[in-house]
Amino acid sequence: MKILVINCGSSSIKYKLYDMSSETELCSGMLERVGTGEGIVNHKKGDDKYKDIMPLPDYETGIKVILDTITDEKKGSIKDISELKAIGHRVVHGAETFSGSKLITDEIISKMEECVPLAPLHNPPNLAGINAFKKILPNTPQCGVFDTAFHQTMPKESFLYAIPQELYKKHSIRRYGFHGTSHFYVSRVAAKMLGKPIEETKIVTCHLGNGSSVCAISGGKSVDTSMGMTPLEGLVMGTRCGDLDPAVPFIIMEREKTDQKGVDAILNKKSGLLGICGYNDSRDMEMKMDEGDEDATLAHNMFCRRIKKYIASYAAIMGGVDAVVFTAGIGENSDYARRDSLDCLEFMGLKLDLEKNRVRSKEARDISTPDSKVKVLVIPTNEELVIAQDTKTIISKL
Ligand code: ADP
Repeated sequence: MKILVINCGSSSIKYKLYDMSSETELCSGMLERVGTGEGIVNHKKGDDKYKDIMPLPDYETGIKVILDTITDEKKGSIKDISELKAIGHRVVHGAETFSGSKLITDEIISKMEECVPLAPLHNPPNLAGINAFKKILPNTPQCGVFDTAFHQTMPKESFLYAIPQELYKKHSIRRYGFHGTSHFYVSRVAAKMLGKPIEETKIVTCHLGNGSSVCAISGGKSVDTSMGMTPLEGLVMGTRCGDLDPAVPFIIMEREKTDQKGVDAILNKKSGLLGICGYNDSRDMEMKMDEGDEDATLAHNMFCRRIKKYIASYAAIMGGVDAVVFTAGIGENSDYARRDSLDCLEFMGLKLDLEKNRVRSKEARDISTPDSKVKVLVIPTNEELVIAQDTKTIISKL
């Protein structure tokens, strides 16, 4: 059974084709600069990589290019588009409407449209992708897998902001959390590595990429997470500030003589690691840190300190923790980030093996000492596989 996983972003479309009878990845790629006359198409099949420049004026054109590529004799992995049994979409915001993955119908599309005000930048491209497939392949089922769904188990005391409850009721202002598919996936792999049923585990998962979030997972359910109503809350990220005194935006607005849009751009695009040291890519920041750059060291220390605060506070709300998991670009690759986020946590029985931490690998691994009560696990995330698995489950019931 061939399933195509699609992630439509504001100017990009990522795709991965799976053979779900064996859960193997057949080919994948990314279209960049969608919406322009100079789009970039990157495609990968096994070790072969292809790059093309072509006009990609809209999502529909982009999706046609993807379908042509995956059926191409040389680059592709299927002979005919009829082999494609379903499309699984990553959808950013599912609000309180979606606590699990769904078969996309007209009714679901209109419910997804109702979620747009909560994610005005992210949900419209997701919907554009869904509508384009509806037009091009009207008989192929599509499923939506929501980034927020896994966090719908958070209790009220963790998802509400301490503002008048009326604002929650009137405008849905609350914490939703993101990266749910990734936190779900790595927590399940972690439970297997711990040799325990997921229902008996307490896990803190740290998804550290360009956007980063931490999640407290008790008995397999998300009970708290660091991102909030939008992905701006929580950790220090590549270009986002994370937690901030809520009065600061008003002060910036007044002193910098800017408006809401200006502040939004500062906090979302010019802050975080970039705002502190001038680099938003952690590899550049770490290289500068090795050269003795003070701002790079400061940015790294701020990044790690915030992660540490979340890990310890989540252990506190769960009354303990069996494992701390690191995943995504930085979590999987940066030994500095892991080392300095865990430094000082020995008091709660967490001991990192510094040698194991330094070893580079693409495999899931335990990097704690044998006597560490809290295991430290590095687990490569695989959100696309979860999307493909959920899609398979849903269409198998049709
Ligand atoms: P996203 O999916 O949120 O765009 P990723 O999970 O791909 O982000 O993570 C991107 C981040 O991971 C970047 O800051 C990048 O520098 C970092 N990263 C990727 N590889 C490495 C590495 N080998 N060492 C350190 N950081 C890395």
